[in-house]
Amino acid sequence: MRQKLIIANWKMHGNLARNKKLLEAYVEKLTPLNSVNIVVCVPYPYLAQAQAMLQNTDIAWGAQNLSKDAEGAFTGEVSAAMLKDFGASYVIIGHSERATAYCESDENIAIKFKQAQTQGLTPILCVGETLIEREAGVMQMVVAKQLDAIINLFGAAVFANAVISYEPIWAIGTGLAASAEQAQSMHKFIRNRIASLDEVAAASLKILYGGSVNPQNAVQLLVMQDIDGGLIGKCSLNAQEFEGICRAAT
Ligand code: PEP
Repeated sequence: MRQKLIIANWKMHGNLARNKKLLEAYVEKLTPLNSVNIVVCVPYPYLAQAQAMLQNTDIAWGAQNLSKDAEGAFTGEVSAAMLKDFGASYVIIGHSERATAYCESDENIAIKFKQAQTQGLTPILCVGETLIEREAGVMQMVVAKQLDAIINLFGAAVFANAVISYEPIWAIGTGLAASAEQAQSMHKFIRNRIASLDEVAAASLKILYGGSVNPQNAVQLLVMQDIDGGLIGKCSLNAQEFEGICRAAT
């Protein structure tokens, strides 16, 4: 039985004062929900704040990107070990907002995935198709290619206890979530593809759905067999809405 996992992705939002209020509300509203795992991925400068405010709670924290290299002359980059210094345990890899804006290749994303694991962080790998790709009916091919970039370099066993977030690009920040059936169908496809190579890894892999999840649509998505939780953007910035989603996961 995979415990549900709800992850907040704050993106590039927040400041010290606003974060303090939001994290206080998270702690008050979310820590009683002990049947669901909750994580918040904050911008790098606020990792210390997340660590200070969450370290004695059941809420874990992480970052939204990391360097593919362990150390060296890479101006502006942040390594996995640096994230660990601030108690981070998760890191988002390959979010489409980054993959598009910063031209990240599937291979780069695969190397970051492995780098996170090697340093003891749980990677949250984002995969998903554009609207044009869905309308052309090639969404499974697109997601398969994203998964294969990792499988071809490192094998399917790396997905044991990892997290994949299926995030159709057309659903992110648009208010137009995938239907529960669309999401379940892709989640099953992802799990089957990993299972065909490594059944044990596929069984422990958590596959989250991300893209305009809100308190109203959360239950119908989260009851689906292969939907193990959600990656939440906009609604994670509002403690009440985020609580509604976390409650739906219980
Ligand atoms: C995201 O950015 O990962 C996301 C799912 O955003 P939103 O919930 O705002 O669609």
